[in-house]
Amino acid sequence: MIVTVTMNPSIDVSYPLREFKLDTVNRAATVSKTAGGKGLNVTRVIHELGGEVIATGVIGGHHGAFILEQLEKEGIRHKFSPIKEESRNSIAILHEGQQTEILEAGPTVTLSEQEQFLEHFQSLVTEADCLTISGSLAKGFPSDFYQTLLKLATDAGVRVLLDTAGESLKKSLSGKSKPYLIKPNAEEIQELLGKKVSIRELEKFKAVLDNELFSGVEWIVVSLGAQGAVVKHRHSIYRVFIPTIQAVNPVGSGDATLAGLAFAISKKTEAEEIMKTAMTTGILNTLEEKTGHIDPSNFDKYFKQIQVEKL
Ligand code: ADP
Repeated sequence: MIVTVTMNPSIDVSYPLREFKLDTVNRAATVSKTAGGKGLNVTRVIHELGGEVIATGVIGGHHGAFILEQLEKEGIRHKFSPIKEESRNSIAILHEGQQTEILEAGPTVTLSEQEQFLEHFQSLVTEADCLTISGSLAKGFPSDFYQTLLKLATDAGVRVLLDTAGESLKKSLSGKSKPYLIKPNAEEIQELLGKKVSIRELEKFKAVLDNELFSGVEWIVVSLGAQGAVVKHRHSIYRVFIPTIQAVNPVGSGDATLAGLAFAISKKTEAEEIMKTAMTTGILNTLEEKTGHIDPSNFDKYFKQIQVEKL
């Protein structure tokens, strides 16, 4: 079973507007409210692929109850640890082909709530064969909290697929317990190492992936949007080519990619199939209006068009 961790879930509210006017009233004729936060996008896509998945993290208040209700409606299993403060809203205004977002920082999680979650996590991890950790930590958590989760999971023999950025990623990579997989995009690599990567300079790209900070990490999947990915698996580096498609909404593609990675890895498939599955789920997400959602009936069509070349 795959366990997904979301430490700052949200209600993703999306308002489609024909035109967005500043300093006046904008009326939204329709609104969509879904269970969100990167980890819950990952969860939904694994579920849509037919994978066995359970979502965990911390959740609170009426918003928290709404999120859990949404998960139940979708038939998604969950075991969250309760907190006192209200889970957040993340608002996206879709207008004139653009997306303007207002993201709340969300609740502050107290020390005793953190300890309660850790106990809960330890018992859940025994059921997992693979674990994903996505997104940011809620306020109150120390920035090395993911390192604590990594240690508990790796000590239990569970592989951790980590998709986070900034200080949290740096701390997780410099600890003793290593993630099994990370999925940074080019921007996150630059933020982490201060180095630009581009498929136009593959030798430089390869050198960046050999950075000491990545040692002990079995898979480094650098996703490159419409350009596919460059992947390092153990000592091999691959260029993954994807077909050109007409993207509808690329938001959440990284989460769908992580879902594909977790799904394929938990099934113990071969390296090439793991990479192809991940690119396919990323593409399928871009073809949907809803963030963190795929139509699995198109899986084979795109899977067949992906090419993996060893560099
Ligand atoms: P993130 O959302 O983390 O920045 P990316 O934008 O790199 O992640 O997207 C992850 C994957 O989703 C890509 O590797 C690719 O397979 C797919 N993808 C994203 N955007 C597009 C696009 N415009 N066309 C085709 N595939 C895309």
